Amino acid sequence: MQAIARQLISEELRRRFREANNVLVLTGAGVSAESGVPTFRGGGNTAVWKGIALKPNPAHEAIARWQDRFSDFTLVTQNIDGLHQAAGAREVIELHGSIWRARCVHCGAHHNLRELRIDNGVPACFDCGSSMRPDVVLFGEMLPAGAFERAAAKAAECELCFVVGTSAVVYPAAAIPEIARAAGAYVVEVNPERTPLSELCNEVLTGSAGEILPLLG
Ligand code: NAD
Ligand code: ZN
Repeated sequence: MQAIARQLISEELRRRFREANNVLVLTGAGVSAESGVPTFRGGGNTAVWKGIALKPNPAHEAIARWQDRFSDFTLVTQNIDGLHQAAGAREVIELHGSIWRARCVHCGAHHNLRELRIDNGVPACFDCGSSMRPDVVLFGEMLPAGAFERAAAKAAECELCFVVGTSAVVYPAAAIPEIARAAGAYVVEVNPERTPLSELCNEVLTGSAGEILPLLG
C-alpha cells in the first residue's frame, strides 16, 4: 500500500497536504460509486441501487477525518445520498439537496423524511399542512439559496482543492475548482477517468476515491 502511495501521490502534494490550513473538497456521484450508488454518467461499474442499506465507503470516511485535520475545511457535494453525513461529516454544503429531506411546496419548510407525518398516504407539512416534495434539485431547477455562493467564497480562499468523482460537466458546481485554481489553489482531481477539468488541475490521481483518499490520510 505504501509503495503504491509513493508512486501515485507526488511529494509536492504530500507536502501541501501536511502544511495546508484551508482545504476544500468537491465531490460528485463517483465518491459514492463504491457504496453501490449508480453514477449518472457511468464509470465505476455500479449498476445496482441497493436502497437505504447503503453505507459510506473509505472515501467518505477519509473526507470525514480530514475535517478535523485542517483548521479550515469545506466539503461541497453534488450528491443527494447523505453518505458524507453518515460517515460523520458535519456542515456539508449540499448543492443539489438531500433525498433524506422533504420540502413543503407551499411554505418552503424543511422536514427530515424519517420524521414526516403521512396524511392519507401523502406527506403533509407540520407547519401548514400542504404537501411535501423531495428536497432535491431537479434538472432546470435553481440551486438552494446561497449554497453555491458559500461554496464559491470558500473556493476562492482555499489553498488545496480536491475534486473527487465528478464528471465536472454540471454547472455551476464545476465552476468551484475553476474558482479555486484562478485564486491560486493547488487543485487535485481524483477520478478513474479524465474529465473536462483534468487539464486545469495541478495533479490528477487516476483511480477510485475509496482507494486513493485513504492513502493521503
Ligand atoms: P457523474 O455521474 O456525472 O460522474 C461521475 C464521475 O465519477 C465520473 O467522472 C466517473 O469517472 C467518476 N467515478 C466513477 N467511479 C468512481 C470512483 N470509484 N472513484 C472516483 N470517481 C469515480 O456525477 P456528477 O458529476 O456528480 O453529476 C451527476 C449529477 O447527478 C449530480 O448533479 C448529482 O446531484 C446527481 N447524482 C447524485 C448521486 C448521489 O447522490 N450519489 C448519484 C447519481 C447522480
Ligand atoms: Zn408548509
